[in-house]
Amino acid sequence: MLEVKRLSEILGHQEVISYLLNDLKTGRLAHGYLFIGKGGIGKKTLALSFAKSILCQKGQEGFCGSCSSCRRFDMETYSEFLGFFDTGEKVKIETVRDIIEEETLKRYEGSYRVILIENVERMTTEAANALLKVLEEPNSGTIFLFTATNKDDILPTILSRVEKYYLSPLKEEDLAKVLENLGYGQVPYLKLGTIDEARVLLDNQDDELLSYQDFRDLFLEKDLEKLFKLADKLSKKKYLKELLSYYQIEAALRFKDLKKGLDYRIFQSLDQAYGKFKINVNERHILEYCFLNIGGIFSE
Ligand SMILES: [Zn+2]
Repeated sequence: MLEVKRLSEILGHQEVISYLLNDLKTGRLAHGYLFIGKGGIGKKTLALSFAKSILCQKGQEGFCGSCSSCRRFDMETYSEFLGFFDTGEKVKIETVRDIIEEETLKRYEGSYRVILIENVERMTTEAANALLKVLEEPNSGTIFLFTATNKDDILPTILSRVEKYYLSPLKEEDLAKVLENLGYGQVPYLKLGTIDEARVLLDNQDDELLSYQDFRDLFLEKDLEKLFKLADKLSKKKYLKELLSYYQIEAALRFKDLKKGLDYRIFQSLDQAYGKFKINVNERHILEYCFLNIGGIFSE
């Protein structure tokens, strides 16, 4: 059973939603849409809502919720909706072949068929090239919806054939509402802007997470042993990236435009560390180097 929010009920992303509603209202739908943004920001929620709205037999500005396509959409039995959700693995050529085969079949009913592919950047090149063929000459009425966290990993030829929408982090008050609905009370990590990141930290509160202030103070102490201990501890944690992301936001709020001082060094060094996480698996080394950088140990 799919739980799909109405476009008008989705928090944040107001501008993107107004474009989508307009496309629905005027019936001028593109062949492909791509929603780009970081994990947990609401790409899938938005894409599902848009898909259901396109397929609804009555709705003009969102779905009605009661027609037969809406009901079957929720039950995941509507044949004109094909959803390929992220399994953590790359989308393979076989999957794309299935998509192509389905796409060329005659529609059973309705005016549209929607094919949703989550995290389209995770495709093998072979798969992406195969997909391109059907994107170039889709059946009339076929609409592709894609989500991606990083547009740089998507073939330019695919990018050029879709409408691109960038989703930005939620406002603090919107995120607070979402987390409240999920059953969280006091929420200190609102500045993260994405639900997933804030939830990861909230779920690990018992782990004595250092507040930004305490983290910052460690660098004033210049106690190398403490810093290395922290690097070691954090490097083993699943929430490492979320926590660093939180520190980075807090740091950025403090240095604002003044690009110097400890907060700025924290921001900069964490940014560099992030870049290194992508190419190097030794988190402890990266953190040690990062902490030494923040402490100004190299520059003295
Ligand atoms: Zn409907």
